[in-house]
Amino acid sequence: MMSSDAKRILVIGGGISGITAAVEAAEVGYEVILVEKEPCLGGRVIRMHQYFPKMCPPACGLEINLRRIRQNPRITVYTLAEVEHVSGSRGNFEVSIHQRPRYVTGNVPIPDTLVDSLESLRPDEFNYGMGKTKALYLPHEMAYPMMHVLDRRALSVHDKEHIQRTCPQGTIDLDMQSKSIQVNVGSMIVATGWQPYDAAKIAPLGFGRCTNVITNVMMERLAANNGPTGGTVLRPSDSIEPKTVAFVQCAGSRDENHLPYCSSVCCMGTLKQTRYIRERCPEAAISIFYIDIRTTGRHEKYYYDLLGDDHVRFVKGKVARVDEEPATRNLKVDVEDSMSGKKYQGCFDLVILATGIVPCAGIAKLPIPGLQYDGYGFLVNDEGERGIFAAGCARRPSDVSQSVKDGTAAALKAIQCL
Ligand code: SF4
Repeated sequence: MMSSDAKRILVIGGGISGITAAVEAAEVGYEVILVEKEPCLGGRVIRMHQYFPKMCPPACGLEINLRRIRQNPRITVYTLAEVEHVSGSRGNFEVSIHQRPRYVTGNVPIPDTLVDSLESLRPDEFNYGMGKTKALYLPHEMAYPMMHVLDRRALSVHDKEHIQRTCPQGTIDLDMQSKSIQVNVGSMIVATGWQPYDAAKIAPLGFGRCTNVITNVMMERLAANNGPTGGTVLRPSDSIEPKTVAFVQCAGSRDENHLPYCSSVCCMGTLKQTRYIRERCPEAAISIFYIDIRTTGRHEKYYYDLLGDDHVRFVKGKVARVDEEPATRNLKVDVEDSMSGKKYQGCFDLVILATGIVPCAGIAKLPIPGLQYDGYGFLVNDEGERGIFAAGCARRPSDVSQSVKDGTAAALKAIQCL
């Protein structure tokens, strides 16, 4: 049933930009519909251990924002949901939202004993594939909504029958169907965020070929207290604390064969993660291989502080190749030092690739007529004629602070269209 109220704002994407935009618009009195394709809100930020400049855990900002959403009746949240069709124009859009089934009703709590008794497993997406969860799982302990979700494709026949036989009445509905939800809104904010560049595409750098080559987003989870190692930095092959660590900057970014642009946040990400390793493995020797260290404004201090650290070495040079020694799983890193011109080979226990930002909007184009993209898949805002505004990493590579500001700005612009 279509609502006739066009004074509403649709926010697509429940990461930090989308959440900010939704809260800001709702708290000045506007109805907001927030659509998120994952089972819970929080996007990429919720998976970080800390974010700069204050090295806050995501619980700092997100918990407050999630509470603001929970307490605000003007915000309607649809998770597991994506926009499937849009018609109309500024001031009066008709939007069709497709919501996938969660199979968990939310009416009755899921008993822990039920989850424990299941055998079916699925890759743990929250931990970037490091480990598995049960097919019936709570995405994480701060999830909003705080509801389990059932990955029906991962469920074995045995577990399906077990659920049918033993599950308390009203807990799980294995016949739950997708829904189509029709809404009428006056403006839209696209905050569909980013995903890390697929490091396996940069074959010489060894991701997928060498066990102890990981990416920067995986490093966030290794450092996180609620991550797969409980916050201890351990290398994947043998769960031993690394004594030598290499960061490879611009892994895919600033490369015509991969991402031609600078992803803008991965230098700061590495400086932050260097601190994680210094705290957890104080004896470790850390090498950072870079083309340029790009830290802007007040963030420069992060770089200068580390320049005086004896355990941290900055090498200006592009890494050509990473290979694994079969017996030890240690990593040989070939790099040309661009200051001396000399070729160099180092041996490391752990290599972390500073992979770049790919806009989700550019990967799976939204079914919204008239959206403008730049050559890299980021959305381009106009002066408001269309009544659609991109925010955060849908628009350009951004850190958390920029994304929050972008969310607020987009909310203000969206309100002006109503
Ligand atoms: Fe490379 Fe740094 Fe730019 Fe990331 S921010 S692409 S690591 S120069």
